[in-house]
Amino acid sequence: VTVSDCINPGEIEEGDLMAYVDGLAGEVVRRHIARCAACAREARELGSLQRSLVGQLYRFACPAPESLTGYLARDLDRNDTLVVAQHVRECPHCARELATLAREARSGPGWARRALQVLEAALIQPAGGWEPAAVRGGPGWLAGARRYQADEVEALVMVGDPAARGDRQDVTGLLHVGGAVPEEAGEVTAELYRDDGLVGLAQVSTRGQFSFGELSAGTYDVCLVWGAREIWLRGIEVG
Ligand SMILES: [Zn+2]
Ligand SMILES: [Zn+2]
Repeated sequence: VTVSDCINPGEIEEGDLMAYVDGLAGEVVRRHIARCAACAREARELGSLQRSLVGQLYRFACPAPESLTGYLARDLDRNDTLVVAQHVRECPHCARELATLAREARSGPGWARRALQVLEAALIQPAGGWEPAAVRGGPGWLAGARRYQADEVEALVMVGDPAARGDRQDVTGLLHVGGAVPEEAGEVTAELYRDDGLVGLAQVSTRGQFSFGELSAGTYDVCLVWGAREIWLRGIEVG
């Protein structure tokens, strides 16, 4: 970075600012920009430039709108699903677009009649006192988990890297209702959000489990979409 006023030029590189603008910067860069007025200004200018110009270029490599819609509706074949899933993790534009599409899908004709119920799950810390049989790894697993509750719905969320793949981590979760895995667990969709973007979709298993693999550092929210209900589990720190 050729910013003369930078408080510590050794800490930040050219590409870091662009990554920051895209919401993909790591902790060190985010902290630097929080402290460094010069780099913060540079990032703001880069951001507005990107929104006006580079945003168009981004679109060049982006999947067609039908692909995003198809991905959301689970209509794509396996290969296309993987391509879109990978893309929305890396492209903040499409991630935001997908979030908008998901929101719109839940305000369509079928939904108008059954009002959407949005629940903000409360974080309960420490997570102890609840040891569902389905948790693999036992109490040790539970000790590091985040426990959420909204009415009779409970969820455990764990951030970890079982396969030790460097800086990427998995987010896994378990859904319970009234102390047991609900019968309809397999019909619940887990949506993964980062900033304003929808960056992942996962089906909850009939055992109440869901997972998102190999996530880069950042703060994520999970939204469990269940019938006409949204249950939000917020503030999941990865990395
Ligand atoms: Zn700086
Ligand atoms: Zn894109």
